[in-house]
Amino acid sequence: MKTIKDFDFSGKRALIRVDFNVPLNSNQQITDDSRMRAAVPTIEKILNDGGAAILMSHLGRPKEGPEDKFSLTHLKEHLGKLLNREVQFADDCVGDSARKLAGELKQGEVLLLENLRFHKEETKGDEEFAKKLSELADVYVNDAFGTAHRAHASTTIVAKFFPEAKMFGYIMASELESIDKVLDDIRHPYVAVIGGAKVSTKIEVIENLLDKADELIIGGGMMFTFIKARGGKIGNSMCEDDYLDTARQIISRAKNKGIKLHIPAEAVIADQFSNDAHTRETDAANIPQEWLGLDIGSESAKTFAGIIEGAKTILWNGPMGVFEMENFARGTRIIAEAIAKATGEGAFSLVGGGDSVAALAQMGLEDQVSHVSTGGGALLEYMEGKELPGIRAIRE
Ligand code: AMP
Repeated sequence: MKTIKDFDFSGKRALIRVDFNVPLNSNQQITDDSRMRAAVPTIEKILNDGGAAILMSHLGRPKEGPEDKFSLTHLKEHLGKLLNREVQFADDCVGDSARKLAGELKQGEVLLLENLRFHKEETKGDEEFAKKLSELADVYVNDAFGTAHRAHASTTIVAKFFPEAKMFGYIMASELESIDKVLDDIRHPYVAVIGGAKVSTKIEVIENLLDKADELIIGGGMMFTFIKARGGKIGNSMCEDDYLDTARQIISRAKNKGIKLHIPAEAVIADQFSNDAHTRETDAANIPQEWLGLDIGSESAKTFAGIIEGAKTILWNGPMGVFEMENFARGTRIIAEAIAKATGEGAFSLVGGGDSVAALAQMGLEDQVSHVSTGGGALLEYMEGKELPGIRAIRE
């Protein structure tokens, strides 16, 4: 893997694609700086080597050109604090002023460029625009895993202008090493836990996992599509009727391959989609008409925890229930605790996907798993077995 680890940045200007797409409140204050903090080791390595760092990112989804609420100026001061040094700012990511500021950068200095997406050429993957970005620096570093599945100018196209000097930053390298452990370099038994709202968004991941995992646990809203596909009664539970056949195919493929597919036998049901609803536990395949399943049942959770605790490799994507509501968070909590316990006993665990990461954080268990992935869509596409354009651009 081509990473910054063994590269000497002394006297070099590095153009670093970071993921500074942080949430801001209505006063343009950063409400969660974890993405910025995560990038610090990569930036510091470059500066400490005696290089200069030019940082580029997108922020939000600006529609037509510059918009103050999406300006990276709101990040400048905080970045300075994190790096403990002054940060210069270019109010356009390309053009004369960016070129001048980049050209005058000295060793140990940092330049932050304005939002890449103020130019529509960024998301179009425009080659001319990518070339202009490339002219700012000597080396290209991609450390934005969250956008690696996009063939945008700054994530993919720009790499071709650095044929001899393009590499992954520390975040990317650690993501790739960790994902490798659940895709290729697997220790068995391998248990994959897939939950969340819809089957439709995760079919390809599930299909790819049927070639890798030993046991596959299904929870969350998507379990009801599987239960209905097997002839169960699911009341008002979430269901994708267009995917009943797909669910049947997954069930039969798992059987043919000898993979244990676990679909919860019990569910926590509610008479409305609310934390204040009346609730009870029932057979997940026999839910009364007006009721809906919002969590896996306690016996199912216990069974799944036992399976997880026996694993050597664990992948978790998607909550087991509507964990945002306390009364339906138990299944997710039991699963998260089991993953933490197995990790403590030597298993490798990767947790990815916005909601499972949020659930893990809510339960205070983030530090007790092996790797928390920063990529939502990028992680899913990688798990589907696709080669991500941002990764291929560095490797080829
Ligand atoms: P995803 O983004 O597909 O991973 O889905 C995450 C969302 O699925 C969370 O917001 C959960 O509240 C939701 N979810 C989990 N279980 C259920 C369920 N049984 N019914 C409805 N929504 C659910």
